[in-house]
Amino acid sequence: MFAAEFQGDNLVKAKESLTEKDFSKIESYRLRIDEAEGFRGVWEIVKDTVKVSLGEHRLGMLLFLDDLPLHLGAYHQLGTNNIVLNRSLVNIVEAVTKSKKLVNAFVYSILTHEYLHALGHVSEAEVRSLVYDVSRECFGEDHILTMLAEKTPWMLIKGIPLNDITVPKQAMELIKDLEKPNQRYIV
Ligand SMILES: [Zn+2]
Repeated sequence: MFAAEFQGDNLVKAKESLTEKDFSKIESYRLRIDEAEGFRGVWEIVKDTVKVSLGEHRLGMLLFLDDLPLHLGAYHQLGTNNIVLNRSLVNIVEAVTKSKKLVNAFVYSILTHEYLHALGHVSEAEVRSLVYDVSRECFGEDHILTMLAEKTPWMLIKGIPLNDITVPKQAMELIKDLEKPNQRYIV
């Protein structure tokens, strides 16, 4: 029958375009994370991917850099808007990998974890599995981010004797204008 055939055709097309849409979403996030500039650039992608994947968001977060023990990636102070990221650890990842892409991947993974805590996900196991879900959905199964989420971001500096490294403690620093208001609205 003509009508049934027509319907079937539509269904196939709908399925195809959905796959294509997913594919282009993954491609565009991969490109964005590779090219992201600094903490602000990565933070924007953290917020976008969590919103797209889980439908959750929170405004007004503040990001600080501090030199923390190297087994600690970052922490979120409960009841505040603050995320404190381990500057020394990021520096080590930068020195070891010499790759902006990998540093961005590392920072993304750590910040997404803390952001999910800030969104009210308290359980460590839940947060880990959510970071994996968001990473896989937005960057694809075979992307480094999804691997970091599945294993640990520390796999990028595997073999580096972190216990032997003493890091100079410097002042805590606020990343200014983390969430810039949209410039287009300013006349
Ligand atoms: Zn945690």
